[in-house]
Amino acid sequence: MRILVVEDEQKVANALKEGLEEERYEVDLAYTGEDAFFRVNTEKFDLILLDLMLPGRDGLQILTSIRKRGVETPVLLLTARDTLEDRVSGLNAGADDYLIKPFAFAELLARIRALLRRGRSTDALRLSVGDLDMDIVTRKVTRGGHTVEICWHAKSGKKRPGEHL
Ligand code: CA
Repeated sequence: MRILVVEDEQKVANALKEGLEEERYEVDLAYTGEDAFFRVNTEKFDLILLDLMLPGRDGLQILTSIRKRGVETPVLLLTARDTLEDRVSGLNAGADDYLIKPFAFAELLARIRALLRRGRSTDALRLSVGDLDMDIVTRKVTRGGHTVEICWHAKSGKKRPGEHL
């Protein structure tokens, strides 16, 4: 599981990275909103830990723009400000959860696990054997990332050649 930690305070960022790595997560750090935006658009993460207070583009702007681009990676907001308005705008912008600083690491872990479990429900609809992948819902099969054309036959066994679902 790969987590992107977006936090400009390097001490906090490093502590988060260290703690999460101890829990066997793969952790990448981004210290600015611009860097975070670039990483999210070019790499695949399972979860984003996003600090709201960032220099330049702040967390909320980053969140709004990645959601606009269709990125659905779960986002857990970290905020030092605990106002109803902040929480509402964070959730409205597409955050999945938020945590108010300072927080206990155990709580952060629990929330991360909950979000990753939620995210996995879509993976449960996927079958993988070696480099073959099948999406059970769309029946799309890929091998090593490339689409494989497969003919699906009706249960009756009647052959319908060339039919693609
Ligand atoms: Ca910050």
